[in-house]
Amino acid sequence: MSSSPYQKQLDELLKKLASSKSAANTKPSLLLHACCGPCSSYVLEYLSQYFAITVFYYNPNIYPQEEYNRRLNELKNFYTKFAPAANVNVVEEAYNPEDFYNAIQIHEHPERASEPEKGERCRLCYKFRLQKAYEYAAAHNYDYYCTTLSISPFKDAEKINVLGTEIAKNSAPLWLPSDFKKHGGFQRSLELSTEYGLYRQQYCGCIYSSKRLQD
Ligand code: SF4
Repeated sequence: MSSSPYQKQLDELLKKLASSKSAANTKPSLLLHACCGPCSSYVLEYLSQYFAITVFYYNPNIYPQEEYNRRLNELKNFYTKFAPAANVNVVEEAYNPEDFYNAIQIHEHPERASEPEKGERCRLCYKFRLQKAYEYAAAHNYDYYCTTLSISPFKDAEKINVLGTEIAKNSAPLWLPSDFKKHGGFQRSLELSTEYGLYRQQYCGCIYSSKRLQD
């Protein structure tokens, strides 16, 4: 798999964090936006040695609500098995699908319903969830914020990192550069899903991606 500038930036930052651990061994705090258990499993395993992590579940894009609940429950299931060692908390934000439809401007741009993944609909979908994560992280004084989304080969890591950086504007909480599919991250998430018996969904999340599955 090709190298990624974002993964390289993360490698360098983690090296610095490892060498500058305080005497009290305190870790910087990270608000980690997550869309489901499988995607967050590897990221948690990977980052929990460096950060005190809170998982942020904000995904009004997921359709229908039963699927939204199922992914949330699965994520919580995973953390209750994994979290005692990693000491991870989960915060759930409100589920209001209209926020998603407004964010992707579907009423003004109905053609977005048939766009393939990684297009403008998806960019706007990343953006509104990252914006919410940033606001929560800023209000609660986190050091960094990030999302698990880049672990998926179907997501555009460049767009995610550009948005995350733009939203943070170089002030705390800082964006954590990342491309979690690198270093075998996607493969490891498959292994952890099997190990923990996690439900892996067959579509990204929104009604448009679920319809493509039925085509
Ligand atoms: S395909 Fe996924 S990333 Fe794209 S708009 Fe739908 S839920 Fe969002």
